[in-house]
Amino acid sequence: MLGKMMDMPLTITSLIQHAANFHGDTEIVSRSIEGPIHRYTYSDAYQRVQKMANAFIELGVKPGDRIATLAWNGYRHLELYFATSGIGAVCHTINPRLFGDQIAYIINHAQDKIIFVDLSFVPVLEGIKDKIDSSAKIVVMTDQEHLPDCELDDVLCYEDLLAGRSDHYNWPDLNENTACSLCYSSGTTGNPKGVLFSHRSTVLHAWAAVAKDTLGISAQDAVLPVVPMFHVNAWGIPYASAMAGAKLVFPGAGMDGASVYELLDQEEVSFTAGVPTVWLLLLQYLQESGNKLPHLERMVVGGAALPPSIIEAFENDYGCDCVHAWGMTEMSPLGTVGYLKRNMKDLSAEEKMSYKVKQGRAVYGVEMKIVDDDGNELPHNGQDFGELVVRGPWITNGYFEDDEATAECINDDGWLRTGDVCTIDERGFMQIVDRSKDVIKSGGEWISSIELENIAVGHADIAEAAVIGLSHPKWDERPLLICVKAEGAVATGDNVLKFFKGKVADFWIPNEIAFVDELPHTATGKLLKTELRKQFADHTFAD
Ligand code: AMP
Repeated sequence: MLGKMMDMPLTITSLIQHAANFHGDTEIVSRSIEGPIHRYTYSDAYQRVQKMANAFIELGVKPGDRIATLAWNGYRHLELYFATSGIGAVCHTINPRLFGDQIAYIINHAQDKIIFVDLSFVPVLEGIKDKIDSSAKIVVMTDQEHLPDCELDDVLCYEDLLAGRSDHYNWPDLNENTACSLCYSSGTTGNPKGVLFSHRSTVLHAWAAVAKDTLGISAQDAVLPVVPMFHVNAWGIPYASAMAGAKLVFPGAGMDGASVYELLDQEEVSFTAGVPTVWLLLLQYLQESGNKLPHLERMVVGGAALPPSIIEAFENDYGCDCVHAWGMTEMSPLGTVGYLKRNMKDLSAEEKMSYKVKQGRAVYGVEMKIVDDDGNELPHNGQDFGELVVRGPWITNGYFEDDEATAECINDDGWLRTGDVCTIDERGFMQIVDRSKDVIKSGGEWISSIELENIAVGHADIAEAAVIGLSHPKWDERPLLICVKAEGAVATGDNVLKFFKGKVADFWIPNEIAFVDELPHTATGKLLKTELRKQFADHTFAD
C-alpha cells in the first residue's frame, strides 16, 4: 500500500522562493569586487534572479545548457546559482585558481554556452582565450562604469543584461532529478573530472546541512562562507542559508585575515566555514591586532586536516566552537562532521581533543564503511584501516561524460571509492590515515604519510612537511621526509628525525630528510605529491 502524501519535486527554485516569501527582509551582504560593501535582501535577490532568468531566455539558453562562472563569493554569483538552475540549465562553477590549461580543458569538456566572469578573473580568460574551442559568450559581472577594456570578443555587461527586464518569471516544472550544477574536481592526477549535481541531491544536502550537528544553519544566524562558491558550491552553504533564512555575508576577494575579521565583526557573523589556511591567516591577524570575536559562535573547518593548534586557539582564546568536517566534491560535499556527543561531555580535555582532530561522524544520508583490498568490511575499532567507501542521495554515481574515471571510482556494488584510507572508532568517528595513493608500504606494512607529516610540523623548526614513499631494494618502499624550514630555523636533518623517536614505531621513522624552499600545491591548496614524486624520482637512499 502506498502512503497518501503529496509527491512534490525537490527543486532549487523552492529554496529562493521560500527565502523571499518568509525571510524577504533578511540581508545578503557582499564585499563587492568593485570595492564597497553591497547590501540587499532575499526579496531583492529573488527579483534579480527572475530578471536574469528572463535574460537567459533571450540569450537562447536551453534546458541542460552549461552556464559557467569564474567568480568569488558575492551576490551576483548567488543570483546565477538560482537563475541558471531554475530555468533547467546547469550552473558550472570553475575554480579560477586552477592552471590555465586545466580551465581551458574544463570549459571545452563542459561545452559552456556562457561564461560569467568577475572583474578579477578577466585576465585569466584573456590568457586562455585561444585554447577555448567553444563560441561561449562572455559576461563580465559588473556594471557599465567598471567594464574593463579587454582582449575578449563581444563582452556583455552583467548589469546591462538585467536592466529593464521583468522581475517576474514563470519557472518551469522540473523533474527533481534534473541536473542543476556542475563542479570539476581537480584531483592530483589526470584531467579534472565533472561532478553533476541534481536539484534533488542539492535540496537533500541543504536539509542535511541545516541540522544542528551538521552546519546548524538557522534564521538566527549570520553566515560567512569563506569557502569559495567555486569549490563544491561553498559546501552547499548558499542553498542551506536560503532554506533556513539565514543572513548571508560574502567575502568577495578578501580572504586575508584583516578583511575576514572586518566582516565577522561588522556583520556580527555567528557561523563561518572554510579551509584551515584561511583560519591560520585569521589567527595571525587576531594575535597581532589583539582583536576578539565576540559574535562568532562556531566555525566548521574542512577540506584538509584541522591542526589541534587551531582548535585550541579558537576555542580557548576566542570562545568559538571549532569543528572538523570532511567531504569531497563527489559528495556535494558533506560526509562527516565532528561535533562531540552528549555522552562525551565528561571526557577530559585531552580525550575530547583526540576526537576533535578526527574527521567526524557520518551525517545521516551518507552511508560509509571501510574495506580491505578485497572489499571486505573492516571493524569500527579505531585501529583497522582501509579505504573508505560511501553511498547516499547526494553522492555521485559517475562523472560527467567520463566513463573511464567513473569505472575507477564506483565499485562493483555501486559505492563511491573515496581514495581516503581511514579508521572508524567505536563511537563512529572517522579518521583519515592517508590517501590511498600516498600510503607507504614498507616490508608489507603500511605507514601513514599524514601521521608522519603531522609529527614533523609539531617540530618548532618545521613550517611545512610532506612524506612520500620511494622505492627501496629491501623494503619495497621507504619514507622520505621533505620539509620547509620555519623562518630563522636552524634544524638539522638528524635533529628532526630524532624527534620521531617514541612517537611512532621505529620502522615508520623516515629514512632521510630533504629540505626545500617550498612544497608544490594543487589549486585547492592540497600537497601535490605527484609533483614531489617526480622531483625526487632519482633519489636513492643511502642504506
Ligand atoms: P575535494 O573534492 O577537492 O574537496 O577533495 C576531497 C578530499 O580532500 C578528500 O577525499 C580528502 O582527501 C581531503 N579532505 C577533505 N576534508 C578533509 C579533512 N577534514 N581532513 C583531511 N582531508 C580532507
